[in-house]
Amino acid sequence: MKIKSFTFNLFQENTYVIYDETKECIIIDPGCYTEEERNTLTHFIISKELKPVKLINTHCHIDHILGNKFASREWNIELYSHKAELPLLENSSEIGKIYGLEDYEGSPYPKKNLSDGDILTFGKSSFEILFTPGHSPGHICLYNKKNNLIIAGDVIFQKSIGRTDLPGGDYDTLIQSINNKLLPLPNETKIFCGHGPSTNLEFEKKHNPFLN
Ligand SMILES: [Zn+2]
Ligand SMILES: [Zn+2]
Repeated sequence: MKIKSFTFNLFQENTYVIYDETKECIIIDPGCYTEEERNTLTHFIISKELKPVKLINTHCHIDHILGNKFASREWNIELYSHKAELPLLENSSEIGKIYGLEDYEGSPYPKKNLSDGDILTFGKSSFEILFTPGHSPGHICLYNKKNNLIIAGDVIFQKSIGRTDLPGGDYDTLIQSINNKLLPLPNETKIFCGHGPSTNLEFEKKHNPFLN
């Protein structure tokens, strides 16, 4: 399994393309907004001869969904997310305007709702869905036990955690999600974050001030 990350849009959001030896790939949180960012994503997928098969949102904050419509149209792929994120998705055009993102063209509706414990597959690979609300009401993480890694969205960052002051956010819920879903994972688990560098659980247990 290989993971390629891109940092897109004014929020410096991390978009992930994950693929395996079959060349099937999933696209997680496509934040590409400008023509140049879209081209960067497209060129990577073409150069690696990848076949995108699913589009996933860890959550539906505007920075993670700016390229939803583009990706779903470009590769004819369906959106997967948690149903508690639907209100955010429905309001996203209004929210985009607030941030001056006049070119945001909206997002398709999810074809399938992901819930805690679901297994999401592509190629010969799979991810377990972990329900991790708090930063947003329907936030999910994608965990791959075999390769010891988690796509953590905006739950946890290197030495920090996701903000909880946005609508639907709740600090205690976020801490509970981290305690119940992330901390029990093996120390070596690599954490790919929605913003900033990737990290691992052992490092965060030692250095993240929110985990104690
Ligand atoms: Zn967010
Ligand atoms: Zn974000």
